[in-house]
Amino acid sequence: MTSGPIGIFGGTFNPIHHGHLRSALELKERLELTQVRLVPAAQPPLRGAPELSPELRADMVEQAVASEPGLVCDRRELSRHGPSYTIDTLVELRAELGPERPMCLIVGTDILERLDAWHRWRELLDFAHLVVMARPGWQAPDSGSVANWAAERRGAPADLHTGPAGRVVMQRLRQLPIAATEIRDMIAAGQSPRYLLPDAVWDMIQRLGAYGAGGEGPGSNQQEQHGIC
Ligand code: ATP
Repeated sequence: MTSGPIGIFGGTFNPIHHGHLRSALELKERLELTQVRLVPAAQPPLRGAPELSPELRADMVEQAVASEPGLVCDRRELSRHGPSYTIDTLVELRAELGPERPMCLIVGTDILERLDAWHRWRELLDFAHLVVMARPGWQAPDSGSVANWAAERRGAPADLHTGPAGRVVMQRLRQLPIAATEIRDMIAAGQSPRYLLPDAVWDMIQRLGAYGAGGEGPGSNQQEQHGIC
């Protein structure tokens, strides 16, 4: 692997969809990242436990990126105990990649809006740059502690190649207004989410009977066997 910046794109991925995937690929190409690591959160700190186990969500991510070498699934948060704090992931990656390697934490504008709820949020930039992508329906905050903090550290895409961490770069990508919540709701309502997410992921969801696919209710044998709460 060369010494270019590494993108780190965390999420619940419950399930992963084309909004995540297209954004990851566009950022990789536009910002000339060496790779983007999609990091499924085992235990998202700010929301209840997802109905699908971390392993199944990570398996879906792996299926989704299988034919795209620039995107990889990083399962490291599955082997930690307790809440999956992003700062812990960045600390681990910094130790592995060395002090000089640029790292870019990728988040949508919805995340930026509530970044100050994150564990040790001000320290994120000690370990990585922050790349904020405009997300349909959300505005980056223009006042408050996060907005001021981000404005003071605002940088340009070239900064992602010249230093290992510390800059905030805003990016507007192709807008795909897709949310995992909507996909789960569609499936529960008996509608097909096909073409909002990769076929391989939709096939897996149907095979598992996840999110109510195929009329399997909570507590069905099929769901219990597959680690669906
Ligand atoms: P949910 O609807 O369950 O909250 P989600 O679709 O927002 O899920 P997450 O796994 O929570 O997906 O999001 C992971 C990351 O992907 C976040 O940084 C989020 O801003 C970003 N993201 C999610 N959907 C999109 C999209 N359609 N376009 C761009 N970024 C997105």
